[in-house]
Amino acid sequence: MKPAPFAYERARSLDHAIELIAGAEDARLLAGGQSLIATLNMRLSRPQLLVDINRVPDLDRITLNTSQIEIGALVRYAEAERSAEIATHAPLIAKALPFIGHPAIRNRGTIGGSIAFGDPAAELPACFVALDGEAVIAGPSGTRVVKADAFYKGLFESALTPRDVLTAIRIPAATSETRTAFAELARRHGDYAMVGLAATARAAGKALSDVRIVFFGVGTTPVRAHSAEAALATGDIEAAVKTIAADLEPPDDVQATGAVKRQLAGVLLRRVARQLMGEDA
Ligand SMILES: Cc1cc2nc3c(=O)[nH]c(=O)nc-3n(C[C@H](O)[C@H](O)[C@H](O)COP(=O)(O)OP(=O)(O)OC[C@H]3O[C@@H](n4cnc5c(N)ncnc54)[C@H](O)[C@@H]3O)c2cc1C
Repeated sequence: MKPAPFAYERARSLDHAIELIAGAEDARLLAGGQSLIATLNMRLSRPQLLVDINRVPDLDRITLNTSQIEIGALVRYAEAERSAEIATHAPLIAKALPFIGHPAIRNRGTIGGSIAFGDPAAELPACFVALDGEAVIAGPSGTRVVKADAFYKGLFESALTPRDVLTAIRIPAATSETRTAFAELARRHGDYAMVGLAATARAAGKALSDVRIVFFGVGTTPVRAHSAEAALATGDIEAAVKTIAADLEPPDDVQATGAVKRQLAGVLLRRVARQLMGEDA
């Protein structure tokens, strides 16, 4: 199928992008196009205007300050995979990136596009929540910062309004105490996961604190497993696995039934917990 007709504008600056989307009834930002173009081609969305942000300056930077790493919305997955700053200071993101699609998709797809689109089966939104990150959002009334825990509201719904541009995400920079772990189960490498899990913790030997366990592919948004987090902080992996039923109610989908997903979630949680505790998965 071909997309419904639409107008196209290339934004020269962030202000220009905000002005263009404010002036149209139904506009969409075009970043890497790896989700948007597919939805247009399938006529799942029919915006009147596409605002191309690919040439907006300064959105493709990775910046490190004392306690945070800021990743610009237009940083492409492939660039992030090659980044020494991300490998060192945001290792969870470095672990997750190779699981996203295939190299052709990672050459175009952007970090901001993934966070903004918020596919509940996508890797980076779960990492963003597990890392307790922040979204930097520019809109007609200025810039605001939204914590990851408050960012995702429902299926493909987030704190972003149709008038906003996500300009960057900020992640607390990893320290010597930071442990991160990532695992997913997909039918084939590069497919969206049936179930996946991103986790972070502060570690002293095997003792964990500030545990954040976030599943993806199990609900309408990334899902934090609060009971499992509390159980893992006591060091009891099997107790954490037993709480999965309390934390997750995965619906059936084309990939698997909810019951299978819950079972797989337990398998992943065991692997990830061992990684967090410094044991082999
Ligand atoms: C075959 C295939 C396999 C894939 N497999 C995976 C996978 O395994 N895991 C995975 O996570 N993804 C996968 N993807 C999707 C891919 O990761 C997309 O790149 C990503 O979802 C969107 O990023 P993008 O830069 O391409 O955004 P676009 O497609 O350009 O935009 C997506 C949406 O986000 C909005 N948007 C984009 N940037 C911003 C911004 N800065 N501020 C506000 N709104 C914005 C757009 O308006 C649009 O609504 C796959 C895609 C394909 C085609």
